[in-house]
Amino acid sequence: MASDSMRDRLYTTEAIVLSRLDYGEADRILTLFTPSRGKLNAIAKGARRPKSRAGPHLDFLARCSLQLARGRELDVVTSAETVEAHEGLRADLAAFGHGCHLAEVVRHLTRDRQEHRSVYELLAGSLTLLNDGVDPWPVTRHFELAALSAFGYQPELYQCLNCRQPIEAVPNAFSAQLGGIVCPRCRTIDPGAMPLSVNAQKYLRTLDRAGLSTAARLRPSEQERVEVESVLGTYLRTVAERDLSSLTILRSLTAGTDQFPDKSRPATTAAVWPEDDRSSVR
Ligand SMILES: [Zn+2]
Repeated sequence: MASDSMRDRLYTTEAIVLSRLDYGEADRILTLFTPSRGKLNAIAKGARRPKSRAGPHLDFLARCSLQLARGRELDVVTSAETVEAHEGLRADLAAFGHGCHLAEVVRHLTRDRQEHRSVYELLAGSLTLLNDGVDPWPVTRHFELAALSAFGYQPELYQCLNCRQPIEAVPNAFSAQLGGIVCPRCRTIDPGAMPLSVNAQKYLRTLDRAGLSTAARLRPSEQERVEVESVLGTYLRTVAERDLSSLTILRSLTAGTDQFPDKSRPATTAAVWPEDDRSSVR
């Protein structure tokens, strides 16, 4: 059987760089998220050479327009142009950390080459807001909830997962194992269920119904933030069946600093950042 000609193997796509890893002398292996081909791995040959034409367009979290050739194991980047460089993310540690987290959510919750166009558009829109200096917290929680739902893990927020009665406006609990809210009568079916105040439940429902731009304008209280972040983070980890390293990083960064981001401590960032992500920080 004759092999495909080079021309038959070429395709063009937009993509967001979810991770990148130095490979060999001058190459980079990229994990890309694309609108119609989902997540895929590709190699950019010579991308680390100073004169590489594609290299500068393939920064971590950049949105780019690519031509690739289908390969046996990895597709090969043959040309790249920047759509949005997201330079602002590299100047703001909090925005960058949240951007890393969004990329990790996609990396861990999607299988290779599964189309998730709505998540692609949401990721692109969320990165733009983070880049523009919008409060990263509501943008990130909205993305988590929307991505969980799009990937088939929508948490139940409106009726008890056990007795199926509508959730009443009282303190209930969130079961990460079962994937949603349980009422006070049924709470014992999951001893690990986390308490959830009425306001935190309202905020979750608002987040669930809101579009990205509305969600970005919401101003939850500190208590609501603590509860909602804990519930969504635990549920994400349960779904992904592993700790998302970026969540741990964000927590360790915020734990010891009263002013966040603390740009006076670049060494801390370098020490906790994953190798592939750190390589793209300028
Ligand atoms: Zn119940």
